[in-house]
Amino acid sequence: MENKLYFYNTLTKKVEQFVPNVDGKVAMYTCGPTVYHYAHIGNLRSYITEDLLEKTLRYIGYDVKRVMNITDVGHLSSDADTGEDKMLKGAKREHKTVMEIAKFYTDAFFSDCGKLNIKTPDVVEPATNCIAEFIHMIRVLLEKGFAYEAGGNIYFDTSKLKEYYVFSNLSEKELLVGVREDVDEDVNKRNKSDFVLWFTKSKFDDQELKWESPWGVGYPGWHIECSCISMKHLGEYMDIHCGGIDNIFPHHTNEVAQSEAYLGHKWCNYWFHVHHLIDKSGKMSKSKGDFLTVSLLESKGYNPKVYRLFCLQSHYRKPLEFSYEVLDNMGAAYDKLVKRIGTLKRGEDIDRIKFDEYRSRFEEALCDDLNSAMAITVLYDMLKADISDATKFALAESFDRVLSLDLTTAQAAKEADSDIDAELKAYVLDKIEERKAAKKEKDFAKADAIRAELLEKGIIIEDTREGVKWKRA
Ligand code: AMP
Ligand code: ZN
Repeated sequence: MENKLYFYNTLTKKVEQFVPNVDGKVAMYTCGPTVYHYAHIGNLRSYITEDLLEKTLRYIGYDVKRVMNITDVGHLSSDADTGEDKMLKGAKREHKTVMEIAKFYTDAFFSDCGKLNIKTPDVVEPATNCIAEFIHMIRVLLEKGFAYEAGGNIYFDTSKLKEYYVFSNLSEKELLVGVREDVDEDVNKRNKSDFVLWFTKSKFDDQELKWESPWGVGYPGWHIECSCISMKHLGEYMDIHCGGIDNIFPHHTNEVAQSEAYLGHKWCNYWFHVHHLIDKSGKMSKSKGDFLTVSLLESKGYNPKVYRLFCLQSHYRKPLEFSYEVLDNMGAAYDKLVKRIGTLKRGEDIDRIKFDEYRSRFEEALCDDLNSAMAITVLYDMLKADISDATKFALAESFDRVLSLDLTTAQAAKEADSDIDAELKAYVLDKIEERKAAKKEKDFAKADAIRAELLEKGIIIEDTREGVKWKRA
């Protein structure tokens, strides 16, 4: 098939034509969340953008298989392998077991993704499911001389590679600054850039999850997870590997090192990285304390799709600064947009030539390094054009397969919601009157029964000096 998509490949540092290994098929991998806390909306910027890439690929005709891991062990508090396991930190914080924490935050992650219309990948695999695969890869790396045992841990020997820093022109010294500052040096390492494949010894002996291995009871390093999980489901050749830009080093650099050492050939051709969501003080991160979640936005009255639109209106290779002011403007634009589309109806009168013309323009924008803001401009242009309502409706529905903003359904859902609201209000007011009458007749049993009936429907009533008030429970 025609390969018309171009996007920036971190490996070659160029916008490149995307050509998959097998014509028409795409093997795609995404680094999944570390499930020790809620995802912040910065993490979700990465997942929204990767969802946009996947849906663009499908829209232009590729058959995509997308795999995502769930990191439920091995990601230490520093991306280099130092500090405490993030999962253990989460468990201690909430006085729960690591597995309870993993289940709770995995569910929370997919619930947030659902609210943002992020499709669940075809395969989702928790790291703790794949211990045998990790041990196998580490064993082969030891056999091939790419790994060594020191002080009880197994390390990858980066000096055995022709090129370790595949993504960067920076010198080793420059890269090490920042990543390793104020971290104790691990004296077991032969080279500063070596990294742990399997831990049996760490400063933190209370690691909850440990497994038998040929090197003693222990647990895997974070980087090995993604190499093994992707190969388990996608084989030895991968087309696209995604993540946020902070994953480039050391995580993706280490993934390439160990995967290619293990395979003996090139592994992944295209590396797709999403720039960060930032706030006034810099990159959004969980270690900053209060961080923004989808639930927090909802509690402030924002529809999560408005945040999706906010992300799509910027380019994924630029930092995006969050502010409520911009989100408010985005909310107003979203309401106007769906209201406009809400006036259109599905119909037979579709102008095929115009349909194809706008669809091509929409595809062209996306194929130009995922220019989603331009794709949205095509949507606005189309809505203003002199074409039949049925054609506009069909195009909006088609574009929404990629944009996933509920373009053709949001307005009707909103109206249905307000109908329910009106119905509920009438019912509650009726019941309040009935209760008033019962109290007047001193039928307190009936008054209490009415209060209980309302409570069962999620309505709380309160007798106040200004009269009876009600609210949702
Ligand atoms: P984590 O759960 O910490 O492993 O991160 C999940 C994903 O979010 C990774 O792909 C990170 O690169 C990405 N990420 C982390 N912080 C941000 C941010 N502020 N903006 C965008 N993506 C981020
Ligand atoms: Zn990964």
